[in-house]
Amino acid sequence: MRCLRCGVCCTETEMLLSAKDIERLERKGYDRDFFMRFDSEGYATLRNYRGFCVFYNAEKRCCKVRAHRPLGCRIYPVIYDENKGIVVDTICPSRGSVTEKQKAKRGEKVLRLLETIDAEAKKRRLAETMRKRS
Ligand code: SF4
Repeated sequence: MRCLRCGVCCTETEMLLSAKDIERLERKGYDRDFFMRFDSEGYATLRNYRGFCVFYNAEKRCCKVRAHRPLGCRIYPVIYDENKGIVVDTICPSRGSVTEKQKAKRGEKVLRLLETIDAEAKKRRLAETMRKRS
């Protein structure tokens, strides 16, 4: 697909992170408190700063961690919609350049990634419950 570097997908991001994403970014020297937060359900998401993902360079219109960015960002604009399943995000102006083959391939990756992220969030919730009980 042709990325137009418009920054739409990095605006007010709610991108979910896997443990591998977090570790990779920490290895690059970023403090997790700077770039992510856990929600009440145990899901890790990217933080925003001034309306954009903390890693988005609005001046240069690029991702500061492009080579190490989260898997969800690499797979984008193919996403999982709770009602429709695997779709190409309608807010992406380049959505028309995604082929059916790319959509199918990335769609498989989205589902695998979400499985991992769901399992990790579940583990965190369980650990939190155990912590409160002890
Ligand atoms: S990590 Fe990079 S590609 Fe992903 S939302 Fe942030 S700036 Fe955009």
